[in-house]
Amino acid sequence: MGRFDIGDKVFRGQYAITEEWETCPDCFGKLKLTVKIGDDSIVEIPCARCSLGYDPPRGVVKTYRNKTVVKPHIVTGLTISGDKTEYQLDGSYGESGSSWVNSPEEATFATEAEAMGYAESGRIEHEKTENLRLHAKTQDHRSWAWHVTYHRKELERCEREAERHRVQLGIAQSKAKGESNAKKV
Ligand SMILES: [Zn+2]
Repeated sequence: MGRFDIGDKVFRGQYAITEEWETCPDCFGKLKLTVKIGDDSIVEIPCARCSLGYDPPRGVVKTYRNKTVVKPHIVTGLTISGDKTEYQLDGSYGESGSSWVNSPEEATFATEAEAMGYAESGRIEHEKTENLRLHAKTQDHRSWAWHVTYHRKELERCEREAERHRVQLGIAQSKAKGESNAKKV
């Protein structure tokens, strides 16, 4: 049996996640990154952090902020299964538009302070894992390195090609000259 009964006033705490755009933490909105590679040459590449898929960089990234929200409710029903109690609380909740919300025993409190404490610890825990994830993303330079290596290889290949064409043109020019000279004579 749970701590509350139908008609009791309780508090339920949770953290809401909101989306926000903020300046890209890698390129600071400049859209490009300067990368120094093994042979000490410096190259500029489009920022990989703030580009979505094949789109060019935007200079901004989407971030998620967590806000703790505590709301008062009245218990309108309860479900007991085994040793677990789940309360049905009044009030509309979120986009679902339903006129009630289910709240497990461990998330339902008699005071606002307790509910806030619970929601806060949930938020802190969530942010910890979120920050670890974001940090891991920041540390991942593989795609940048890949860009640089790829474009340098392509550039070298194109330069070799260009040289080959120049040589071909050089030969063709002297040949043409030779022919025209030969005709004049
Ligand atoms: Zn960026």
